[in-house]
Amino acid sequence: MKRRTFISNIGMASAGLALMPTACTKSEDTEILILGGGISGLYLAYMLEKVDKDYILLEGSDRFGGRMFTRTDINRDVGGRGIGDKYAYMLQLIEASGAEMIDITEYMNSPSAIYMNGKLRHPWPEEEVKPASLQYMALGKSDYLKGLDSWYKSPEWDEAYSSFLSRNGLTQEQIDLTNISANYNDIRETSALNAHHSRAFVKYNGSKRVLNFKGGTKAFIDKVVAMLSKPLHANKMVTHIDDQSSGVRVKCQDGSSYRAKKVVSTLPFTTLRDVKMNMAFNENQKKAINTLDYTNITQIHLTHSEEYWKEDGIPMGMWTDTPLERIMNMSALPDETEMACWVNGKGTAFFDKMTEKEIADFTIKTLHKMRPASKGKIEYLGTQNWGKYPYNKGAYIEFGVGQAAWFEDMIKPVGNLYFAGEHTANNNRGMEAAAESAMRVFNELMT
Ligand SMILES: Cc1cc2nc3c(=O)[nH]c(=O)nc-3n(C[C@H](O)[C@H](O)[C@H](O)COP(=O)(O)OP(=O)(O)OC[C@H]3O[C@@H](n4cnc5c(N)ncnc54)[C@H](O)[C@@H]3O)c2cc1C
Repeated sequence: MKRRTFISNIGMASAGLALMPTACTKSEDTEILILGGGISGLYLAYMLEKVDKDYILLEGSDRFGGRMFTRTDINRDVGGRGIGDKYAYMLQLIEASGAEMIDITEYMNSPSAIYMNGKLRHPWPEEEVKPASLQYMALGKSDYLKGLDSWYKSPEWDEAYSSFLSRNGLTQEQIDLTNISANYNDIRETSALNAHHSRAFVKYNGSKRVLNFKGGTKAFIDKVVAMLSKPLHANKMVTHIDDQSSGVRVKCQDGSSYRAKKVVSTLPFTTLRDVKMNMAFNENQKKAINTLDYTNITQIHLTHSEEYWKEDGIPMGMWTDTPLERIMNMSALPDETEMACWVNGKGTAFFDKMTEKEIADFTIKTLHKMRPASKGKIEYLGTQNWGKYPYNKGAYIEFGVGQAAWFEDMIKPVGNLYFAGEHTANNNRGMEAAAESAMRVFNELMT
């Protein structure tokens, strides 16, 4: 493929690409502008290359991949990395890129201990249900969605997730425990439809094994970028989208501007709502762009120098009622020493006020208290706060009660502006959702 990629101001040495700073103060024209260089934007670029369509991709941060993110300062994957073995769209791109995969299913199923009310317990007491299982037990009592594409058309299940769990037999204590363990901001506000959709995705997608990218997600993203021949500009934070009769004009924070016949936004609604736009959005679109919430996740990344869990005989993974919430084994290979505390939703506010040093000290001290055997064997690496990360402001879309009814309208093209991204997908979740949305928009653009 002819190499004429213009990657502005971005260190892509590992992809073997030359640095080419672009001072785009004058307007650049193209057929299709792709806003956002996460996996949905890159996937769309890959599809457009196949039919030889001209495009320019604008990415606000200094790297590509978006929520697929290897933080090189701490050498850790901090975003999406688990690929199901039935992720058809993603596997197609993975194959085309030549990226190598490793199977991490075994690590995903590692056992967990529990630390509550100052006591560490393992094995799990027979009479108690594991936090992770509580919600699945309740979901198991209800019917599946008829199909994945019916998820947002099921108003009978559009209720607070906590009400659904309560109707299906969970006690208040169990609901509180679920609020720590479930990947939502607050299950008293989030719609049960999010959980029904996730559960249906597991069933209908049918993935049984989980794969990771060998060498980290950056290795894959670099390979995808290297496959693309058209301009990919980093450090282009979009501030204005102006739909004019002659086409669309997009302006960036650095003063550069671009014109195109059509524009595809893959931006999360949390950042798109800061962009000034002049289109005649429908009412549901307006509400969705302005108010849809994303789940806050804060990960505290750690490394261990010794396998202290072999000393005390309790698994490394733990569910806790401390502000650290969950302690997870993040290693994908036997010689890796990755672990992280994974804090969801409202619990993230506890760490938002702290300095990095305070987070490190608190984490190590709390771990030592829970696991005396870990003393001197755990080191703090860094914190990834997705809620405060300026390019996403949240980890993934989370529909509140009543908001799923906006879905059909919110993904409709308006004028020459089209929508892609994880939040606009119908049948899938996560990275596969992002890829699905790129395929949908590709078809919309081609008709
Ligand atoms: C911690 C975590 C764990 C996850 N785990 C999994 C998993 O195991 N499996 C799975 O399938 N999925 C997982 N996901 C979800 C998955 O990573 C995402 O769904 C997917 O990567 C989203 O891709 P996207 O292209 O839609 O959005 P993004 O990756 O967010 O791409 C949007 C891009 O737009 C850019 N941008 C934002 N605003 C502007 C602007 N104004 N101008 C220009 N550019 C802008 C951003 O920098 C970003 O690069 C996880 C996500 C997180 C955060």
